[in-house]
Order: sequence, then structure tokens, then C-alpha cells
Amino acid sequence: MNKKLFSLIAAAVVAAACAVGFAACGHTHEMTHYAAKQATCTEDGNVEYWYCGGCEKYFADENGGEELESIVVEAAGHRWDEGRVTKEPACTEDGERTFTCTVCKTTRTEAIEAVGHTFSEEWSGDSTYHWRAATCGHADMVADRGEHTWQDGVCSVCARVRTEGLDYALSADGTYYTVSGIGKCAESNIFIPSAYNGLPVRAIADRAFYGCAGLTSVILPNGLESIGEEAFYECFALENISIPESVKKIDAYALSRCMALESVVLPDSVIVVSKGMFSDCGSLKSVTLGDAVTELGDSAFYGCSALTDINIPDSVWIIGCSAFEYCGFKSVTLPGRLGYMADNMFTSCKNLESVTLPEGLKNIGEYAFTACTNLKSINIPQSVEAIGSSAFSDCTCLKNIVIPEGVNVIGSSAFAACTGLTDIVLPESLVRVCPSAFSGCGNLKSVTIGNKVETIDYLAFSYCSALTDIKFNGTMAEWNGIKKGEDWDSGAGNYTVHCTDGDISKKD
Ligand SMILES: [Zn+2]
Ligand SMILES: [Zn+2]
Ligand SMILES: [Zn+2]
Ligand SMILES: [Zn+2]
Repeated sequence: MNKKLFSLIAAAVVAAACAVGFAACGHTHEMTHYAAKQATCTEDGNVEYWYCGGCEKYFADENGGEELESIVVEAAGHRWDEGRVTKEPACTEDGERTFTCTVCKTTRTEAIEAVGHTFSEEWSGDSTYHWRAATCGHADMVADRGEHTWQDGVCSVCARVRTEGLDYALSADGTYYTVSGIGKCAESNIFIPSAYNGLPVRAIADRAFYGCAGLTSVILPNGLESIGEEAFYECFALENISIPESVKKIDAYALSRCMALESVVLPDSVIVVSKGMFSDCGSLKSVTLGDAVTELGDSAFYGCSALTDINIPDSVWIIGCSAFEYCGFKSVTLPGRLGYMADNMFTSCKNLESVTLPEGLKNIGEYAFTACTNLKSINIPQSVEAIGSSAFSDCTCLKNIVIPEGVNVIGSSAFAACTGLTDIVLPESLVRVCPSAFSGCGNLKSVTIGNKVETIDYLAFSYCSALTDIKFNGTMAEWNGIKKGEDWDSGAGNYTVHCTDGDISKKD
């Protein structure tokens, strides 16, 4: 196109445009038309418009009738979908989620944080530590590793039972466990747990640890209520047992023949020391009884030859037969409430030198002090009415004994073979001297007898070979009226009976 022609066309276009827009703008617009352009996700578009270079304005129509503030159609932005995991996160490595624009298919990614290792809810452990094992396959990783915190034989963190392998039995009502045996446990120090399988452990069964010669120490848990019969019988090596306050009942022979046991403390909750509980515990030196103990059972301390120290609480009012037979202590005080002495209480306590008996006691039991060969003197309370058979027989050192007024019977062999006795004063109240009562008292020189005596039984003073004087507080007629058993003075010395009205010589 030549220059002239171009000018003509341009002038025509301008003229045409101005002819249309003249009235509005005061000048003739020189409109250029722009087609609408759609915005994309990321790029702005524009509406259809006309632009006048002369007034630098935008119009919605070619006549310039409607001016436009803006011709821009803003970019819409991507419309991301919900995304999908394109890389799963691992224990230590991030994953990836990829989002796609639903409009333009552009994609972007976001990291998914590494999940970390995962660990079991359950505890794992060994005898010292507990931990949670990895469930993610990283076998070398563990969580929460720590030392067990033992409390009554159970870890307070992982609930592991400290001593494993013991046998348990569920109670009939399914509410607690009893330790029924040593099971597979080969340990010498055992800790009975306070709980097992989520239920409390309340009892040790009868004979649960009978004859477990390898046991040296047993710690019993709080919450335990009872220990069965012979539960620890013949645990020959058992040196230490700790019994908590919760234990109320310990059955017969529970600790019998625990030869290594030297000291035991019973909690105040135990009020009965059962039959034979400590019998034949030959090393037992000291026992501490609770303040509320009411009863010491038969043979409770039988054969405790090393027992040098026992304090019987004042709360005790029943002591069974043979409770202290063959015990080793030198001195003992029986409690104030004891009214009756059972048989064989201190039989063969070879070291016994001093005994304090309570006022109120009614009798000296049969065989009570038999063969207490170190007993030199004893005070018998005024309340005593009877001296049992063989009560002091074979007390070879017994020298001083006052038999109180009120005693009316001296039992068979009560003082037999008391070779230390040189003189004895029998009380005025005495009615009967039983068979062999003083038989074999080889050093007995003098006996004083009251006039209420009705019977001197057979062998009563037999073999009292040193007997020289019987002081009888009655007449010769009364002496002769006493019923005398066969051989009552057989083997006795050549005594003279001094009656109130004269002397009688021994009849040969
Ligand atoms: Zn214009
Ligand atoms: Zn897009
Ligand atoms: Zn892992
Ligand atoms: Zn633990």
C-alpha cells in the first residue's frame, strides 16, 4: 500500500469513528477493537472492548457509549482436586501427595510428614528392663525403655511379675489368685507379686513351698491375707521372710523346720501364732510378736533351741501345749492375762534360769518345767492351786521353791529327781501328795507338811535317801491317820517325823 492510500483509509476510519463517538467525548475517538480473551487458571483475560488511543479510555461498544473501568478478567486460579498419595510416608522419610488442577491438569505436590516408627501397645522386657517393641519392622528400635520399678513384686510400669514361674490358682469366685506352688521358678530370692493376671494375689496355699530347700528369701506383698498350712515347711535355707501388715492368718506349721531362719517379725495383724508355726526352727534367735496377739498355739516355738529372746505381749491369754518345749532362752515372763498353763510349756528348756509367772495363774501345767536343768528358783504365784504331774521333774538345779498356800494337790512326779532340793515346805492347804511326787530327790533332807494332808501316795518320797526330818504340823495320831500309798518312803533316809506331840521314827 502506498503512503497516500494509507492516509486516505486512515482518515476515513477516523472520520467514521469520530462521526459515531463525537458527541460523547468531544473529540473523535479513534477506536481499536479488542476481542474478549478468556482468563486461564494463571493468566488474566479481558472482556471485549474498544480502546481509544486519543483519550486513552476503554469502552464496551464501538461508539464509546459505555466506558469501562477495567477490561481485565482475572485469572481464576487452579482448581485443585483432593490429591492422591503418590508416595507413602515411611518411618523416617516424608511421603508425597499430588494434586491436579481439574481445569488445566497442572499438578503440584505436598510432602506428607514421615510417620516415625510405630511401637506395640504391649510391653516387652527382660528381668531388668521393659520396653515397647517396634511394629514397623525396625527391630532395632524400641520405645519407653527403662528399668522396672518394682512394687510388691510387680513392675508398676509394665506389670511384669518379678518372680516368674510360680504356680497360681484362681479362686472359686474368680476374684483373686493363690500362689499354689514354686512351679518352674528356680530363683532363691522370690518376690510374691501383689497381682497376677490383673487380679490380686491374696493367699499362699497349703504346702505351696513345702520342702523348697533352695529358697533363701521370700518377700510377701501387701495385700496378701493368708499363708497356708506348712506353706514354707522345711525350707531349710530360708533366711529371710518378710510378712506384710495385710496378713491376718498364718496356718499351722507354716514356717516349721526352717532351719536357717534367724529372725522373724510378725505384723500386728496376726493375732494367732498357729500350732507349730515356728517349731524346730533351730536357728531362730529372735521373734517379734504383734501387740494384739492373743494366742500362741500348741508347739508354736517347739524346738527353737537358739531362741534367746522372746517377748510375749500382754495381749496373750492362751498358750498351747509344748509352746516353748526345747527353747533356748534364759529368761521368760508369762503375760498377766494367762490364767491356765497348758502341758509341757517349758519342758527341756535347758538354759532357762528365770521365769516370771503372772498372779492369777491357777496351775502349774503338767511337765511345765520338766528337765529345765538350769532352773534354780521360781516364784509360784499365790493364785496357783495345783501343781501338775511332773511339773518340775528332773529340775536338777532347783533349790528354792515356795509352794504357796492355796495349793491342794501336788501332782505325780511333780518334783521327781529334783536332786538340788534340800528342804521343802508344803503349804498348810495341801490335801494330797500324788505318786512319786518327790521320788529320787536324793538331797532332800527336810520336808514340812501341814495337817490337812489326807493322802501321801505310793512312791511319793521314795529314794529321798538323805531325808532326815519330816516336820508334821499335827499330832502323831493325825500322822498315822494319813493314808499312805505303797512304798511311799521306799529307799528314803532314816527320817524322823516331828509331830506336835512327839516324834515318830521311820518304820523299817
Ligand atoms: Zn477518544
Ligand atoms: Zn489450572
Ligand atoms: Zn520404623
Ligand atoms: Zn517394668
